[in-house]
Amino acid sequence: METNKQERNPVRRIVIAGGGTAGWMAAAALSRTLGKVVEIKLVESDEIGTVGVGEATIPSLVHFHRLLDIGEQEFMAATNATFKLGISFEGWRARGKDYIHSFGLTGTDHWTAGFQHFWHKGVERGLAGDYGDYCLELAAAREHRFGHLPNDGLNYAYHLDATRYARYLRRFSEHFGVERIEAKIASVDLEAGGKRIAALVLDSGTRIEGDLFIDCTGFRSLLLGQALGVEYEDWSAWLFNDSAIAVQTESVGQAVPYTRSIAHDWGWQWRIPLQNRTGNGIVFSSRHVDDDTARAALLANIEGKVLTEPRVIRFTPGQRKQVWVGNCIGLGLASGFLEPIESTSIHLIQRSLVRLLQTFPGHGIDQAQVDEFNQQTDADIRQIRDFIILHYKVTDRRDSKYWADAAAMDVPEALRHRIALFRETGQVFRFANELFVENSWVQVMMGQGIHPAQHHRTADLMDDAELREFLESFRQSIAKTVARLPPHEQYVRQYCGAKG
Ligand SMILES: Cc1cc2nc3c(=O)[nH]c(=O)nc-3n(C[C@H](O)[C@H](O)[C@H](O)COP(=O)(O)OP(=O)(O)OC[C@H]3O[C@@H](n4cnc5c(N)ncnc54)[C@H](O)[C@@H]3O)c2cc1C
Repeated sequence: METNKQERNPVRRIVIAGGGTAGWMAAAALSRTLGKVVEIKLVESDEIGTVGVGEATIPSLVHFHRLLDIGEQEFMAATNATFKLGISFEGWRARGKDYIHSFGLTGTDHWTAGFQHFWHKGVERGLAGDYGDYCLELAAAREHRFGHLPNDGLNYAYHLDATRYARYLRRFSEHFGVERIEAKIASVDLEAGGKRIAALVLDSGTRIEGDLFIDCTGFRSLLLGQALGVEYEDWSAWLFNDSAIAVQTESVGQAVPYTRSIAHDWGWQWRIPLQNRTGNGIVFSSRHVDDDTARAALLANIEGKVLTEPRVIRFTPGQRKQVWVGNCIGLGLASGFLEPIESTSIHLIQRSLVRLLQTFPGHGIDQAQVDEFNQQTDADIRQIRDFIILHYKVTDRRDSKYWADAAAMDVPEALRHRIALFRETGQVFRFANELFVENSWVQVMMGQGIHPAQHHRTADLMDDAELREFLESFRQSIAKTVARLPPHEQYVRQYCGAKG
């Protein structure tokens, strides 16, 4: 009988190559769920080290931790974490014009029309306040307040120390049986045919054999890219940034519950407040600025004593054409990279892990399953890519070549359509299972400067008095809830203050 199985052997031995965020997230998820029925080894090299950045997350990480039974207070204390309610985009639309893309929903929708249509009519009639007044997370972020509300009433994520996070997950994974091997991978042995991995060969000569290999070796992509030769799809025609410089500083002032993303003339800068320090970095296009200018701009725009030497990191925005080939799955930077303006990389790691666990090839790897995994992963990342491109394409800035080039570029067709639809009708849609919900698209499209030409006629069913009452009652209820929340910094200290 014909079989679609690549092999008949069940997957009993998993080998994870690399111990950065991706490697240890993989080890944690696999060991916590399947640790009793599979053997898991992780090879990493302290000498090579990790990329050492990746400290802003999105709310899906809260759910990932719940799936693994990771205690929030313990995890936050161990990683010096703070809460995050969104991202403040400063100077993206125009110099001096800021907006927050928050994790919350804004207002309440009618089944025929999103809240933006009612707000838009309110603005026309002089009845509406700032769009952010109708979103709890956004209003709390602006006031630097935070608290857990019943029924997950406040949607949040974390800022965390990446190095400590990997260390925390290592302890967690070792507890569930993962064997860590400290060594350099010298080469990768392929099976006859060259489509599957037989073993990792360490610099000591030891061979680590496995049934399933997870490539978490970072930008090197030792298994998927180098050994299996999977090509890389380059998206730099739309995403110009190819370099970053990261530096850590001492904290100054209170830790705000949002990531700051500050536009420059040729890129942008992040500020990520942790309990004990701030993570800073600048992301830029080497076609538009040189390293020295970017470094000087970063150092001129940070607060607090510099704790680390500024490091230049190069990358190519894009994705491997397949992330699962034969018996090897690429995770994290080994599989591709999108710049961190919406903090989506860690999310993509966890998304692939959940997908792997839900379709785990315990009885042998099936090509149909591999194809499905690749197709779903590809859709995820392309949708996120388009959302990121939106931030550059829609801007009023023309004051530097970088922004003028961004505004002038041709964008992927699906994004072009979404922008046109919103501009003309105020409508947005979301693909099935897409990460960013309609309200995220609305927040960023309006924040970047699109004013829809019309609102839905449902909004005309309310007269001015009704619309005023509808908007005002919403605004007041949010303001009251925010006023009851404690200051973010105080809450973090009491809830999960790092020891020592
Ligand atoms: C500038 C920048 C900012 C970012 N900011 C964010 C953010 O805010 N939010 C977010 O979600 N993501 C962010 N990311 C992405 C995030 O950093 C990564 O997705 C995440 O850290 C996972 O990295 P990794 O584990 O794939 O790779 P790495 O951290 O590079 O780990 C690679 C591992 O492989 C090991 N290794 C490599 N070669 C060998 C070898 N020969 N032998 C043995 N071991 C080897 C290394 O020792 C290391 O353990 C950012 C990325 C960059 C570049």
